[in-house]
Amino acid sequence: MAQKRDYYEVLGVSKTASEDEIKKAYRQIAIKYHPDRNPGDKQAEEKFKEAAEAYNVLHDPQKRQQYDQFGFDGPMGGAGGFGGFGGASMNMDDIFSMFGDIFGGHGFGGFRSSGRPQQQRGSDLRLKVRLTLQEVNKGVTKKFKLRKDIACTHCHGSGAENGSGSDTCPTCHGSGIITHTTQSIFGMMQTQGVCPTCHGQGQVIKNKCHECGGTGVVKGEEVVEINIPAGVAEGMVVNVPGKGNAGPNNGISGDIQVFIEEEPNDTFVRDGNDIIYNLLLDFPTAALGGEVEIPTIEGSKLKVKIDNGTQPGKTLRLRGKGLPAVPGYGSGRGDLVVNISVYVPKTLSRDEKQTLEKLKASDNFKGDKQTKDSIFNRFKNYFN
Ligand SMILES: [Zn+2]
Ligand SMILES: [Zn+2]
Repeated sequence: MAQKRDYYEVLGVSKTASEDEIKKAYRQIAIKYHPDRNPGDKQAEEKFKEAAEAYNVLHDPQKRQQYDQFGFDGPMGGAGGFGGFGGASMNMDDIFSMFGDIFGGHGFGGFRSSGRPQQQRGSDLRLKVRLTLQEVNKGVTKKFKLRKDIACTHCHGSGAENGSGSDTCPTCHGSGIITHTTQSIFGMMQTQGVCPTCHGQGQVIKNKCHECGGTGVVKGEEVVEINIPAGVAEGMVVNVPGKGNAGPNNGISGDIQVFIEEEPNDTFVRDGNDIIYNLLLDFPTAALGGEVEIPTIEGSKLKVKIDNGTQPGKTLRLRGKGLPAVPGYGSGRGDLVVNISVYVPKTLSRDEKQTLEKLKASDNFKGDKQTKDSIFNRFKNYFN
């Protein structure tokens, strides 16, 4: 067996630390090394277990006193003492249930707060919504007709027939929690769980409602309006709290998770919050310069100046004409990026042909070194 570290050292507290200090120290360590946060990390798991073991002893005044007096070789010695307790690793479920009180209400799936009845939570609903780029740009409210668990109207969600009320649960005597004490090779182990009779309510219904069978929920339809914020993208999930299935017995409603999908667009390509527009420029305008109209996501047209001698592959960046950031995840808008290509006519009239033959003779049409270099550099950077 590896040399065990002193329990006070494990929790980083002094020998005179108060119960509160011990609890706080353990909580910090347990959150840091919690397996949910460190999936597959064996070292984190060991630290988590080590801290749990230390806390199990130090938060119990009697065990702490024995540890202070005798160290790991507690007076019980052997398998029942601390040495035996720490030798084999504790079962994770035991750790979660034993120390549940530390984590009450902090969102760790494995932990449940003890001592007060649990409200049951309805399950979440999942929806897909397909948005156009215009809807992404503005944000949109979508209506859905959903089939889901809703509160029973006959008993108003209580599950009790005609207000018959409820009795204290005979299994847990109203606490909603049951505690098992078992003798294991590590000594006495206490584990807590939600009472199976009342599902943590602490109360059982006298006469069950004939409509819902005592659950307080029935299948029904509801039209739900969901606001999708501007700027969302394919793969994002918008959570709508409290709009999912109703919780049994006036419990907490679940959420709706809305999975975002994007409709492809004929005009624009999205790149994060930027919008890319491919402009096919006519050759004379590229050579002479001029003005073109660029469509925007808003549906309007922007007049954009084209310099004379504009080369294919040039990009123009129209600042702030892209998509907005999702509120809370950035600010401002992306850009409208115009990629310029130059159109070469596929057929020519006799006149056009003659004109081009004349131009072909001119050295000015053969391309200069600066342009060649800039194309070379652009493609060199592509592959590096
Ligand atoms: Zn009912
Ligand atoms: Zn119960």
